[in-house]
Amino acid sequence: MSPLEQDYLALSGIQHFAFCPRQWALIHLEQQWEENIFTYKGKEFHQKANQPFVVEKRRNKIVSRAVPIVSHRLKLYGIADVVEFVKRDKGITLDGRSGLWWPTPVEYKVGKPKVDNWDKLQLCAQAVCLEEMFNLTLTEGQIYYGKTRRRLDVLLDAELRRQMKQTASEMHKVFMHKTTPKAEYSSMCDRCSLVRVCLPKMFVRPTVKEYLLEALEE
Ligand code: SF4
Repeated sequence: MSPLEQDYLALSGIQHFAFCPRQWALIHLEQQWEENIFTYKGKEFHQKANQPFVVEKRRNKIVSRAVPIVSHRLKLYGIADVVEFVKRDKGITLDGRSGLWWPTPVEYKVGKPKVDNWDKLQLCAQAVCLEEMFNLTLTEGQIYYGKTRRRLDVLLDAELRRQMKQTASEMHKVFMHKTTPKAEYSSMCDRCSLVRVCLPKMFVRPTVKEYLLEALEE
């Protein structure tokens, strides 16, 4: 990475930041990381998808794994789990292959589709990287969920792109200021791999009733 690219951030952080900006800052600013069952399963699952540079060729499809990607507009870089190239009447040329090929990013997730759009934001950022790299506009990508063993088609519409750009921009702002956001306890903390590092309940102020009860007990 060149000195000019020192402020580029890991694209995979998008999902952490969307989940909780403090979690992202603890990982990316303070280099804190704790394994829990969710992160362990995710890593194990990705090891299967990420066999560097493996390329599978089928008749009209090329499956490329662990593809390095970058967006200079978003200042994000990372590795796409899978990019599938399908032979079509429009697309890009590939070395040693005749015809035109249309890329589709496929992100692998261990769990099941979520109510929130964290996974979709990450996929959208990957798609924007591919758009910049190949100079085209993608309309959709896919997320494969291990729990359901199914692929989810994701429309890369204007609203998803807007949310992704906003998340990336806020992520860069926190990175620039190098200030970890304060903890705010919520139900998500119970699923967070960093709950023992973050200690979010320490920042929850007791209610007046709780305070009085505690004082009476003493
Ligand atoms: S424990 Fe809660 S507040 Fe702390 S990083 Fe995790 S989700 Fe965020």
